[in-house]
Amino acid sequence: AARGAPRYLEGLNPEQRLAVETTEGPVLVLAGAGTGKTRVLTTRIAHILASGLAYPSQILAVTFTNKAAREMKARIGILVGEAIEGMPWLGTFHSIGVKMLRRHAELVGLNSNFTILDTDDQIRLLKQLIQAEGLDDKRWPARQLAGMIDAWKNKGLSPAEIPEGDARSFGNGKGRQLYQAYQDRLKTLNAVDFGDLLMLPIRIFREHADVLREYHSKFRYILVDEYQDTNTAQYMWLRLLAQRPALPDGSRPAVNICCVGDDDQSIYGWRGAEVDNILRFEKDFPGAKVIRLERNYRSTAHILGAASHLIAHNEGRLGKTLFTDRGDPDDARVKVHAAWDSDEEARAIGEEIEALQSKGHALNDMAILVRASFQMRAFEERFITLGLNYRVIGGPRFYERQEIRDALAYFRIVSQGSDDLALERIINVPKRGLGEAALRLMHDTARARNTSLLQAARDLIGTEEMKPKPRAALRALVESIERWQGMLDRTPHTELAELILEESGYVDMWKNDRSPEAPGRLENLKELISNMEGYESMRAFLEHVSLVMDAEQNDDQDAVSLMTLHSAKGLEFDTVFLPGWEEGLFPHQRALDEGGRAGLEEERRLAYVGVTRAKKNLHIWFTSNRRIHGLWQSTIPSRFIDELPEEHVEVVESGSSYGGYGSGYPGRPNPYGASRFDDTPVFSNSYSTPGWQRAQRNRNEATQRNWGNRSGHQVERIGYGEPDSGY
Ligand code: ATP
Ligand code: MG
Repeated sequence: AARGAPRYLEGLNPEQRLAVETTEGPVLVLAGAGTGKTRVLTTRIAHILASGLAYPSQILAVTFTNKAAREMKARIGILVGEAIEGMPWLGTFHSIGVKMLRRHAELVGLNSNFTILDTDDQIRLLKQLIQAEGLDDKRWPARQLAGMIDAWKNKGLSPAEIPEGDARSFGNGKGRQLYQAYQDRLKTLNAVDFGDLLMLPIRIFREHADVLREYHSKFRYILVDEYQDTNTAQYMWLRLLAQRPALPDGSRPAVNICCVGDDDQSIYGWRGAEVDNILRFEKDFPGAKVIRLERNYRSTAHILGAASHLIAHNEGRLGKTLFTDRGDPDDARVKVHAAWDSDEEARAIGEEIEALQSKGHALNDMAILVRASFQMRAFEERFITLGLNYRVIGGPRFYERQEIRDALAYFRIVSQGSDDLALERIINVPKRGLGEAALRLMHDTARARNTSLLQAARDLIGTEEMKPKPRAALRALVESIERWQGMLDRTPHTELAELILEESGYVDMWKNDRSPEAPGRLENLKELISNMEGYESMRAFLEHVSLVMDAEQNDDQDAVSLMTLHSAKGLEFDTVFLPGWEEGLFPHQRALDEGGRAGLEEERRLAYVGVTRAKKNLHIWFTSNRRIHGLWQSTIPSRFIDELPEEHVEVVESGSSYGGYGSGYPGRPNPYGASRFDDTPVFSNSYSTPGWQRAQRNRNEATQRNWGNRSGHQVERIGYGEPDSGY
């Protein structure tokens, strides 16, 4: 080994280096965006390995996405100078949770090949339970109960532990009972939901001291990225793993846990994340060393100035200073642009991207970050038209498609015969005359004999209980499933997958479908199967699918990234486009309605996350009209635009080549009819007169005009669908 500091420590600033080298005891790194928190974590792992303090298998490291885990692993390999064979415990909370649970499944009454339910299955199951309780599932929607159960699990609460008020608030006081029934049902199905991936390990740790002890002696170092977004259950899980029991002399062994985070980037409050975990850290881990990093290595002074000014409008902050020496007179200011509508916005951004590309910039260095996933459509369509490569990151978009879910259900029932929900999904898809009545009979039989649905089907086809026609259909299906099951270990899984979809008639179903989407669906199915090739077995693939949070991007092609702001955490790009900065969309109306001031502050943190993804160029866009669920609606620029500091911002007069408003934009046929906008786009003034102040004044006028409109067009309450996430 060379003398002096190891290679990987070079270039770190003194605080970063302190965070890397303080390997013993609890450490909390609290620092703003782009200050090198993730880099510190990665280097710290490299340091631990290179100094021989632990083997890779003795390090537990939690990242926010699977993709981040893969990248971190690759980085560590580079830093240490050799490939790291296996950091088995580097992953997301969920992926580590599922691994632990498979090892100890029997301790909570599961078989280690348990299934992980997706939301769809979960809803279907809850609906059955709600009906079984004699409740009206219209009045007491399964979706609502699913949300409540999810929230309870995020707080680490078992049915017995939920607050009385919560229990009373659903299903005529049957909330607790339903939660319990759901857990019981999951157990009989040998299934878990996402929340269980942490809840059940927590239970195991609490009830089985020997198991916890095993992990205590296993994990010498624990590291957590994006700590500000941990929820209570995750915190409980971490604390159980990190805190060691007192030694005979009363002292406690050092806890080598290092968490890094930024309270200003806490954007998952709506999913139960608790910023307070940052404050709890020092209490739960006495003697914790708190390290602050203040130098931003990512962004230009303009971008950082904009971000700092924006986030300063929040009240609930721990407060940090940030500086950069990346200030160059040539640096571009943050650019604010306007468009007529989202297609226009997508077109202009597409042109800007092409212009950058023709100047030699890589598409990989550009990203579009949207507030809500529906915004992606315009960009996807535009990019397809332009033939511009793009990738969608985060969100199980592809796997959420109907045809993909159906296909996966077939694969699931084949690889795990007890997966009732999978069988239920495909029992009559394609239609085979197995309707409600047949399904009810199967359910009754399964319940009476306490068997799986597939077994019940097997039993039923040997009896006269079913009418001949459905019985024959069921027999054919059961025999097919059994045949496919028999092939599981003998046939390459992709081949088997193809065979299943063909023999089941599923592919034909779409071939015979005359709807315009059908060809696309067939393509998606093909895509699904070719995707499977990268996995060693069908089961491995299914597990991957249920865990996958970042859309798989196996292509190494140069491509623009498209994702929600929530999925953009931790990432960085030379050029970032932030479209849709309009009141109601961003800040999102629902966040304001439901969260009030706190909701607004979380939206602002999301804006801060977006702005701080950019290294060199940042473009913020707003449109004056937006179509939501088929309804046109006039919009006004986001208040966050007002909150950007003038000195770092440039309002772009007219879009580069699309003939912006200032240059006499001809105007598109007004979707509302002429009276609505006095024939001119709402923001035309701000574009014919330069100047930031002017733009702001016009915005205020526009506010009154738009909100005061009595056009008779009923404008729907904005509900952009789920605030999307990459979690
Ligand atoms: P975020 O809060 O957005 O997750 P972060 O604090 O995790 O940001 P990193 O992603 O680790 O920040 O670092 C931001 C950028 O700065 C990266 O490109 C990283 O390589 C670079 N960087 C970090 N520390 C240094 C350093 N000491 N010298 C040079 N570059 C650095
Ligand atoms: Mg980071």
